[in-house]
Amino acid sequence: MPGDNYEVEKHAKFLAGRQDLLIELDGGLSANGIRLRRRAHLRRSLAWSLAERTAIVLRRGGDFLVAALLLIILSPVLLIAWLAARLSGGGIGKQVRLGRWATHFNLYHIQFPKNSVLAKFSFLEPLPTLYNVIKGDMSFIGPRPIAPSEEFIEKRLAWKRYNLRPGLLSLWWIRKRANIAHASEASLDSEYVETTSFWGDMGIAARAIPAAFYGSGVSNAPPQISFLGVRIDNLTMAEASTRIVTLAQANEPAQVCFVNADCVNIACADDQYRTTLSQANLVLADGIGIRLAGAILDQNVRENVNGTDMLPYLCTAVEKAKLGIYLLGGKPGVAEDAAKWIAEHYPDLKLAGAAHGYFSPQEEAAVLQDINSSHADILLVALGAPRQDKWIATNKANLNTRVLIGVGGLLDFYSGRIPRAPFWVRELGMEWFYRFCQEPRRMWRRYFLGNLDFLYRVICERMRVRAAQRIEGNAR
Ligand code: UDP
Repeated sequence: MPGDNYEVEKHAKFLAGRQDLLIELDGGLSANGIRLRRRAHLRRSLAWSLAERTAIVLRRGGDFLVAALLLIILSPVLLIAWLAARLSGGGIGKQVRLGRWATHFNLYHIQFPKNSVLAKFSFLEPLPTLYNVIKGDMSFIGPRPIAPSEEFIEKRLAWKRYNLRPGLLSLWWIRKRANIAHASEASLDSEYVETTSFWGDMGIAARAIPAAFYGSGVSNAPPQISFLGVRIDNLTMAEASTRIVTLAQANEPAQVCFVNADCVNIACADDQYRTTLSQANLVLADGIGIRLAGAILDQNVRENVNGTDMLPYLCTAVEKAKLGIYLLGGKPGVAEDAAKWIAEHYPDLKLAGAAHGYFSPQEEAAVLQDINSSHADILLVALGAPRQDKWIATNKANLNTRVLIGVGGLLDFYSGRIPRAPFWVRELGMEWFYRFCQEPRRMWRRYFLGNLDFLYRVICERMRVRAAQRIEGNAR
C-alpha cells in the first residue's frame, strides 16, 4: 500500500538523520574529535600568522628596496642639496618622532635657511627621509610621523597605530596638498589606521603623484591673494566660518562669495560680476583650479574653502551662536530637503525658512518679504554663479539678513539630489570631472573649455608678473 511505503521511507530518513547527528556529536565532542578540532584550529592560526608575517616582510622588503634604489639614483641631487644647504648656513636637520611601538627615532631632512633663494627647493627637504625608510623607522605609506609631545588622543586606536610604521606619505599629506584636509591631523590619522589595507595604500601611492604637483603648502600663504583682477581672502574653513558668524552679529549686511576657476573666467568678461566680487566682504577660494593658479603665481592658497565642505563647520558655529539660517534656491523641494538634512544633524540650529529658486521677477517681492519675516541672520542663496552673487548685491539693502552667501549647487548636494564625489576623487583634484560625468551636457563647456581658458589666463598672468619683476629689477 502507498501509505505503508511512505511510513517506511520516513523511518529510514529518521534513522539516517540520527546516524549523521551521532557521527557529528562524536566528531565534535569525543576526545578524538576535540583533538582533531584543536589541530585544525592550530593549523588555521599558523597559516594566518604566517600570511601576516609574510605580508609584513614583503612590505618591509619592498620599502627597503625602493628606498635604497631611490637613494642611489637621487644621491647626486641629495649631495648638491646638502652642499648648498651647508654653504648657506643650513644642513641636515633631525626631529624626534614616534615610530613603530612608539619607539623614538630621528627623522632626517635637509634644512634650507628660510627666506633664502634655496627655500624654493623646499620640495627636496624630505630626501634624507629615505634613509629612515631604509633603517626601518618609517614606511613609504603610513600614518603621519608624530612628535612625542603630540598626544594621540584616541587610545582605542593607539595599539593599531603603533603597530604601523609612520609613512613618508600619509592620508593627511595628500589631503593637505589637495587642500581638503579640513579635519584635524589626528582624526585623519585615525581614519587611515581604521581603514588601512594593501589596496588602500596602493590608492594613497597613486593619489600622491598628482598631489605632489599641487604646490608647496601653506607655510608662506599671505592673508589675501589676488589674480586676474579677483581678490581672494586666504582663510581656512574654520576661520571662514568664524568670520561669517562675526559678520552675522554685526549691524551692516555682508556678502560672502565662493570663487572657483569658472567664476574667475566669468569675472574676466563680466564687469558687473567683477565689481560685485571686489565689493564683497569675503571672497573664498573654491576648488583645485584656484589652488593650482595660486601655485603657478606664487600665491599659495591655504585651503579649499568651498561652500559644500564648509556647511557642517558653518552649522556648528551658527548653532553655537544661536543664529537663524534661511535657504533659498534649487528646484522646488530641494531647499526643504536640504533643511531636513540640517535639522537632522544640527537639531538646535534655528532653520528660519526655505524656498526654491525658480521665482519670476513678479514673485521676487514675495520672496524678499518671506525672508524678512523669517528674521533669519544668514541667507544661503543657491541660484548659480554669477546670478546669485549679483542678486545678493542688488537685494541685500532690502533684506534684514546680516550675511548673504552665494552657495551654487550646495543645496542639491545636501538634499541628496546630486551625490557628492567620493573622497579619493577629491584627493585627486578631480571633483570637477565627477561633476562633469553627472551633467555632461551642461558641464562640458564649463570644465573642458573653461579649465583650459583659465589655465591659459593664469600662465599669461604669470608671464606678465615675471616681465614686470624683471623691468623693476633692471630699473633698480
Ligand atoms: N538655480 C535656481 N534658480 C535658477 C537657476 C538655477 O535655483 O533660476 C539653482 C539650480 O537648481 C542649482 C543651482 O542654482 O541648484 C546652481 O547650481 P550649480 O551647480 O550650477 O552652481 P554653480 O556652480 O554654477 O554656482
